Amino acid sequence: MARGRPDGPGRRWRVTADPHTHTRHSHGKGTVLENARAAARRGLEAVGITDHGPGSLPWIGVRSPETYEEIRAEAESASRATGVRVLVGAEANVMTPGGDLDLDRRVLDRLDLVLVGLHLMIRPAGLDGARLLVRNVAPWRWSARVRARARTANTKALVEAVRRHPVDIVVHPGLHLPVDTPELARACASRGTRLEISSAHSETDEAYVRAAAKEGVDFVLSSDAHSPDRVGDLSAALRVAERAGLDPERVWNVAGPV
Ligand SMILES: [Zn+2]
Ligand SMILES: [Zn+2]
Repeated sequence: MARGRPDGPGRRWRVTADPHTHTRHSHGKGTVLENARAAARRGLEAVGITDHGPGSLPWIGVRSPETYEEIRAEAESASRATGVRVLVGAEANVMTPGGDLDLDRRVLDRLDLVLVGLHLMIRPAGLDGARLLVRNVAPWRWSARVRARARTANTKALVEAVRRHPVDIVVHPGLHLPVDTPELARACASRGTRLEISSAHSETDEAYVRAAAKEGVDFVLSSDAHSPDRVGDLSAALRVAERAGLDPERVWNVAGPV
């Protein structure tokens, strides 16, 4: 791992992996093999196939938890074909204020990478799940009081998810939904869970990275690619990390100096 301030993209920071990409198994455009080939072209050592969990709306998520086993078989042959380590993961949905996920422990334990996040395009899980969703989408959410309550509920849901499950990465905190970054970062730091800096979502910006970094949490850069041409495109995330003055030691998927 590199030490000190980076001098610029590709100089001191060498990205080694893209842990967050999608395929046709959820609502991505490419195949597992196409994502692996794209990662190879970018010179990456590893790529994560992290299709959306089954709690997503039907055209967004995997058909069922068993889909991850199909992905595993494709990942093994894609690894052999490309020389890139293809990791089988999921972008699981946090479904309730108590941190329930849309994948059970048996499935999580078989994955190489567990990503979790809050999304609006999900099938609400029971009354609690519906309440969490409504807080974030109802027209009255623009009132400061309601927004503050949504922020508290969203933060608690993510913190509980991190506390209860073996979570590697919390994805795009603050995307469409308010979250208390320092509180989430403290929970992640205590569990060894990383926070995502996403090339695809400007919400994971410099201010967010600075606020989270103060709490001692580590990070990961990702593309959240939904098509093979975006796999490994981490330049936007890299710029955010650099501008925030992040020590490369604290970013899981960079190495250097080169
Ligand atoms: Zn997402
Ligand atoms: Zn994603």
